[in-house]
Amino acid sequence: VLSLPWLQPVLTSPEGPDVAPVEEEPLFTNLDIFLFSLIVGLLVYWFLSRKKSEETIPEFKRLTPVVTPQRETSFIEKMKKTNRNMVVFYGSQTGTAEEFCGRLAKDAQRYGMRGMSADPEEYDMSELPRLAEIDNSLAVFCMATYGEGDPTDNAQDFYDWMQENGEDLKGVNFAVFGLGNKTYEHFNAMGKYTDKRLEELGGKRIYDLGMGDDDGNLEEDFVSWKEQFWPAVCEHFGVEATGDDTSIRQYELVVPTDINMNKVYTGEMGRLKSFETQKPPFDAKNPYLATVAVNRQLNQAGDRHLMHLELDISGSKIRYDSGDHVAVYPVNDVSIVNRIGQILDADLDTVISLNNLDEESNKKHPFPCPTTYRTALTHYLDITNPPRTNVLFELAQYATDPKDQDTLRKMASASPEGKGLYQSWVLDAQRNILAVLEDMPSLHPTIDHLCELLPRLQARYYSIASSGKVYPTMVSICAVVVEFQTSTGRTFKGVATNWLKNKVVVTDNGHKATVPMYVRKSQFRLPFKASNPVVMIGPGTGIAPFMGFLQERGWMKEQGKDVGETILYFGCRRRNEDFLYQQELEEFEKAGVLTQLNVAFSRDQEGKVYVQHLLKKNKEHLWKLIHTDNAHIYICGDARNMARDVQNTFYDIAEEVGGLTHTQAVAYIKKLMTKGRYSLDVWS
Ligand code: NAP
Repeated sequence: VLSLPWLQPVLTSPEGPDVAPVEEEPLFTNLDIFLFSLIVGLLVYWFLSRKKSEETIPEFKRLTPVVTPQRETSFIEKMKKTNRNMVVFYGSQTGTAEEFCGRLAKDAQRYGMRGMSADPEEYDMSELPRLAEIDNSLAVFCMATYGEGDPTDNAQDFYDWMQENGEDLKGVNFAVFGLGNKTYEHFNAMGKYTDKRLEELGGKRIYDLGMGDDDGNLEEDFVSWKEQFWPAVCEHFGVEATGDDTSIRQYELVVPTDINMNKVYTGEMGRLKSFETQKPPFDAKNPYLATVAVNRQLNQAGDRHLMHLELDISGSKIRYDSGDHVAVYPVNDVSIVNRIGQILDADLDTVISLNNLDEESNKKHPFPCPTTYRTALTHYLDITNPPRTNVLFELAQYATDPKDQDTLRKMASASPEGKGLYQSWVLDAQRNILAVLEDMPSLHPTIDHLCELLPRLQARYYSIASSGKVYPTMVSICAVVVEFQTSTGRTFKGVATNWLKNKVVVTDNGHKATVPMYVRKSQFRLPFKASNPVVMIGPGTGIAPFMGFLQERGWMKEQGKDVGETILYFGCRRRNEDFLYQQELEEFEKAGVLTQLNVAFSRDQEGKVYVQHLLKKNKEHLWKLIHTDNAHIYICGDARNMARDVQNTFYDIAEEVGGLTHTQAVAYIKKLMTKGRYSLDVWS
């Protein structure tokens, strides 16, 4: 570089040596040399800096193809750009809140508003005060409460923002619909908090907080709330409902003619071919295909199937702690998929793409596209649960019999008669979409519209039944296969448990069965100090996390740690039928890991004996453990009855042995909860 070849002729003129120099007259004066050096210096500088920038350009160019286009993180700018005045945010874990948001955003144009639905995780929520910049604007929040009063994963940052910031929301109009479940202690905690906090910050509530109860009829709660919410919006903004009830498609069907099968999704959740080339980290969008190492039946008798599965996660870099949950993506029953195809006269192997008509939307497709109808119905769509009312409403247009059309529309309405009909004909009868199509022969929707309307098939969560310390390469599941007869004479089969049940360790063709999974962290944790006593209450499959806890306490003991009392209350129907993990539990007991094993056999005698009856029997000892020995209490299993009954039993113990009044007892247990000494992992 420094040889500067093009300067050479000047320095060594070819004429130089041959031409006789003029005597006394030097060839270059000092000034010449100075100017010359300056030029050379500048040229060198220019050249070097040019080289430098040349080096950086290819670097930059190389990067461009892998940089994904910047997503719009400003919902305000997006609303302005797309001329919207209503944004509907969802805090969603299982997809229901997201679905409700989509419905509200879509409904908006019937009520003179222009809506868009948005994931708070994708946008800068600190811009909320700026909503006032948009005329007649409104922010609606559909907030699900997860776990023990927690925000959903995608609403965590927004929740933190609400808690930590005192920004002025003056001029911001809002409304909140909460999605919760009454069987849980913190019913609709997130909905309540959002509603209260937005008002505290100066926002204006346009309509009252809606509180959906999934233990009752969430769909009905939402429809009823919506029915009142829209008139309130119209009144507030002085707009009129258009009364236009026609169905509006959100996606257009595209059937590609030139198909490269390598570009067609076959069940992946995110990246195309992610099941063929697996790359950590593994999460909801990128599940790990774990091989099924063990799949055995746990119960010795009875008409149910209780199972223990072990998923091999070696090499996945997945870590877990006992108490965490494993999420599993199930696959729908082939026979239901085929039957839907048959009824709709559809070629299920057609490759299609459903493309969002709203080009500005972050959600380009309702599920990964392009794909086939078969893949969509098998991996991406929920075809087992009763369809929601909006699905029935939109499908009504395809019923050729006016009576069917009328029935479907009525069920989607907020009239008491319609609600009653939806409750009995759809929910109580557990009619899934196939049953609806079968029982209404005049209903013949197009398959692409049906695929647009059905909600996404969600991952199922199970409490991990092993310890990550003892089995770092294995995740265990303990579950009962869900199967029952419905009032229409059909058999309802739980999607995930039936699919898991049929997972054989090695298939006929020698392949190992796999399960797409990822781990979700939980708060259900053993005490930090191993010497603290633990009392675990887990009837039925509620035993799951405690198998992990016991393995871990045993492991600590082996390490020479001072491990405190470890007590289990397990409950099952009969000793000879469903005493899950009997052998393992007795071995833990023999090894001194399990210091007390209490089992309530509910059906081995005349009257019922449940875990809470045994708790009551040991009330003095339990009170001592709780009140003086810093014991941690854990409850896992059924939320609806068991967890509540057990909690009431603890109130009784605090009253009877601790001498507290009922109010004091309730406050006492609440305090234990806030201290993390009374933990629940319950399901309904
Ligand atoms: P199950 O076998 O039906 O019931 C277990 C025992 O609990 C039976 O002896 C039952 O007695 C008894 N029981 C019924 N009502 C009770 C009450 N109010 N209080 C105390 N005990 C009561 O249980 P399961 O089929 O395993 O289901 C248990 C629940 O745990 C399910 O809701 C499940 O979803 C949930 N769960 C599952 C996991 C998992 O990872 N797989 C984890 C946590 C929780 P009777 O039937 O004789 O009345």
